[in-house]
Amino acid sequence: RKPRIAVVFGGRSNEHAVSCSTAGSVLKAIDTERYDVVPVGITHEGRWVLESSDPERLAITSADKLPEVDASRATVALANAERSSELVVHEPASVPRTLGEVDVVFPLLHGPWGEDGTIQGLLEMAGVRYVGAGVLASAVGMDKHYMKIVFQAQGLPVLPYTVITAREWEQDRPACHESVDAIGYPVFVKPCRGGSSIGISKVHDASELDAAVAEARRHDPKVLVEVAAEGGREIECGVIQGFGTNPPDTSVVAEISIGGDHEFYDFAAKYLPEEHTRLDVPADIPEAISDQVREISARAFEALSCEGLARVDFFLLPDERLVINEINTMPGFTPSSMFPRMWAASGLDYPALVDRLVQLALHRDTGLR
Ligand code: ATP
Ligand code: MG
Ligand code: MG
Ligand code: MG
Repeated sequence: RKPRIAVVFGGRSNEHAVSCSTAGSVLKAIDTERYDVVPVGITHEGRWVLESSDPERLAITSADKLPEVDASRATVALANAERSSELVVHEPASVPRTLGEVDVVFPLLHGPWGEDGTIQGLLEMAGVRYVGAGVLASAVGMDKHYMKIVFQAQGLPVLPYTVITAREWEQDRPACHESVDAIGYPVFVKPCRGGSSIGISKVHDASELDAAVAEARRHDPKVLVEVAAEGGREIECGVIQGFGTNPPDTSVVAEISIGGDHEFYDFAAKYLPEEHTRLDVPADIPEAISDQVREISARAFEALSCEGLARVDFFLLPDERLVINEINTMPGFTPSSMFPRMWAASGLDYPALVDRLVQLALHRDTGLR
């Protein structure tokens, strides 16, 4: 039989809609002659449902009506008593039926409870192969605090930062202000574990700090404050794991230029149509710099023991220094997303990219790697 792939999307994080959009694109591109595809949605509440495979309704078309997983659909569960790698459908008032064994899960989830090692842990326990980073790399990649610790320890360049925990913010606010003063304004304030720029603000001086921290804390009790890369150019690079013990491949390097009235690459600039964001693929930068971006990206991928895929985000500072902003272990795959565009420009079109990721997962060892 054809390998069966469960495409899992939606999820409990605030990137639910982005995940749906990503899944819509992947479902459209996946070769159903070669693979048997089962779309599995995770509702905002965390219930798994057997979704429809109609990709059209999953697209982001406007900010007011974001796509979401249909909570009225039948519940589906991974695992039954005999086989942990089977999907079982529970329809109201009928006997549960099995969809059979799953060969690969494609967890197209962004943010906590999906991109952070939690679903990866579930799949490891069940012995199911899946696309992308494992438990540790996902968890470290999701937490901007630990991500920086690991990058710094490996000698990779990051911007100066400080972390504000819930205890510090509630017990000693003046000390928090002092630690931010010490790194110097302007700063970026971010939820430590998040994505799609949700909850992020640029803070120009101390008077704006409390509001920005409150906004970030709506999404994560742990907040990262980081020096703003003033005048920096935004550069990104895609990384894909090599087969076997081959080194990772890196894509051409791309640049994002934000237009309109966006101060940075925020949610609207990322996903909403008719925004003024320009993506240059490849970036118009000297070859020596793009070579350096690719080399650092591959090192960042290996620093976290990533698997499958990742997108590494950089700033190219006015003095030509490169710093890593962050790594994303499940980058967006929406039609406007950088990751597939960078690979298309590198000779791997969207269907070939999806196929490569599925093949990497099919070849994966389910023991310690
Ligand atoms: P995603 O996972 O969708 O890429 P994210 O929510 O993890 O995004 P970041 O990539 O850290 O967030 O930041 C989002 C955007 O905010 C960046 O692309 C950039 O435009 C801006 N930004 C973040 N940090 C800085 C900084 N230190 N200096 C300048 N701009 C920044
Ligand atoms: Mg990110
Ligand atoms: Mg992200
Ligand atoms: Mg980013």
